[in-house]
Amino acid sequence: MKHFKGIHASPGIAIGPVYLYDPEEFFVDQRRVDPRDIPAEKARLQKAIRAVAEDFAATRAHVEDVLGKEHAQIFDAHLLMLQDPMLLELTYPHIEKSHNAEYAFWTASQNLRRQFEEIQDDYLRERGADLLGIEKRVLAKLGNWEKAGLDRLPQQAIVVARDLLPDDMAHLQPDRVLGLVTEVGGPTSHAIILARGLEIPAVVSVADALSDARIGDVAIVDGHRGDFILNPDDKTLAQYRSLAERLRARKAGLVDSRDLPAQTVDGVQVALQANVELPSEVHSAMDYGAEGIGLYRTEYLYLASDILPDEASQVAAYSQMAERIAPHPLVIRTLDLGGDKMSHVLNTQTEMNPFLGLRSIRLTLRHRDLFKVQLRAILKASTVGNVKVMLPLISGIDELREALAVLDDVREELTREGVPFDPQCPVGVMIEVPSAALIADQLAREVDFFSIGTNDLIQYTLAVDRGNDLVSYLFEPFHPAVLRLIKGVVDAAHEQNIPVTVCGEMAGDPHSGLLLVGMGVDKLSMTPSALPEVKRAVRNISFNQLQALGEDVLNMQEIADIRARVNATLSDEDDERFIGGVNGETARQMRLSLF
Ligand code: PEP
Ligand code: MG
Repeated sequence: MKHFKGIHASPGIAIGPVYLYDPEEFFVDQRRVDPRDIPAEKARLQKAIRAVAEDFAATRAHVEDVLGKEHAQIFDAHLLMLQDPMLLELTYPHIEKSHNAEYAFWTASQNLRRQFEEIQDDYLRERGADLLGIEKRVLAKLGNWEKAGLDRLPQQAIVVARDLLPDDMAHLQPDRVLGLVTEVGGPTSHAIILARGLEIPAVVSVADALSDARIGDVAIVDGHRGDFILNPDDKTLAQYRSLAERLRARKAGLVDSRDLPAQTVDGVQVALQANVELPSEVHSAMDYGAEGIGLYRTEYLYLASDILPDEASQVAAYSQMAERIAPHPLVIRTLDLGGDKMSHVLNTQTEMNPFLGLRSIRLTLRHRDLFKVQLRAILKASTVGNVKVMLPLISGIDELREALAVLDDVREELTREGVPFDPQCPVGVMIEVPSAALIADQLAREVDFFSIGTNDLIQYTLAVDRGNDLVSYLFEPFHPAVLRLIKGVVDAAHEQNIPVTVCGEMAGDPHSGLLLVGMGVDKLSMTPSALPEVKRAVRNISFNQLQALGEDVLNMQEIADIRARVNATLSDEDDERFIGGVNGETARQMRLSLF
């Protein structure tokens, strides 16, 4: 048994076999082989290895003719490996377990490559790279192999990866991925936000997870405490199985509360909405009692597809979602590509600092056609439900006016074409850049609502890359600078009588969510599964208490004091109930808090 500590990133417990994911890797089909066919399967493998050896020998002879003996020698290492009986000896046990030759060879070879990678000697480490070349050739002789992807896991598994990008996640099969573990990355990276949306337990920043894990090892992911346990002993397995059961029971109990109003004990209503990345998540948002979709991250439509989604497919997606969630609102955020969300379809340039580069509204203003297609689709969908448009990453008034002018053009176009749309369709901006927060009074005069994206607001205010685990200890929602900015935005919005939502991860944590309500935020929008916990916290407290909390923290300087004051608001008794009766210390460790 080996225990790793990381950062808890998406709650829940997962238990299952390990799948090592590397986007540069490839994938082979897994089939069960009839025990009677095992000898034939072994013979197939021998034949493939022999064929590759013959190819190498022919290439070697050709290179020797053309370039000379010295250059031809580079193929000797390949030939030696192919002739080494070890390759067969390592693969046969997998075939004997009734795996097809491709899968057996891939599994054995991948595990062997990992051993090479761990060797300190440069020469031997390079042999691992040779092995990869051999592996691909042998697999090509045996049949087909394709590029790896999270859409082709051979079985339900815990995915262990160096890093995961939104692009990887956009292709993921939710029913196959039991849990996620990454060596790098922070809990507010977009890939992890999607994991939370899909309710997949995740732990990030687990040093050396990849080098120690082997395909098929059994593992536990504890997304509450940030633990990753490889090959657990029986006692640990039994403890986690029972904990997972208790958590499931508790969740079922909380979901039952979905029709209760989200109001404080003194009767103040707090609108609780859901963030979704995929249209399919609207279902779970409704199951958890969301009063609308406060943030639809449309860029996943682009990331999941190999072609740019056209107007008709966008109209269909938005209309279906709007209809389903009506009469509650659907807030559609225009494309927020760039940063860590790169679409290969757009073929954008590599940037030194992508989070400070051509991201989000900057990218759409550069690609007007793309932007217009999306705005047309949103406006067309506005006739079937309560649709709102939201512009991300606005950093100044000129940029906002430029975007609003494009929207006006689109309205005119549609009017000319006689296409119906809601002329009153509200338009809001996300406040996620400190410059926007500081001119919130000016921006508030131009739009119908604000939504504070605290993930980016924290990143840009504190100069902490939200996806970089090396500095994730500095990603601090309770930093006085962040709280002051939020307060300023809320006051500026209310001065102009427009509502403020918070749709960053801060909204979905019961502690920080309550603090935001105390600071005057009107709505909280969060990953659907966080809704019941936040609702329960809201229903257990009075608005007066929350306002006092909101005022107190603004006068504090030390993050520890702010955290203590906020934590004191959510009683330990609540935490105890959450865990369903484990001891107090464990309960405290296992708070749902992301921060
Ligand atoms: C945010 O920045 O807080 C936000 C909600 O947007 P995203 O996480 O998609 O960048
Ligand atoms: Mg953002």
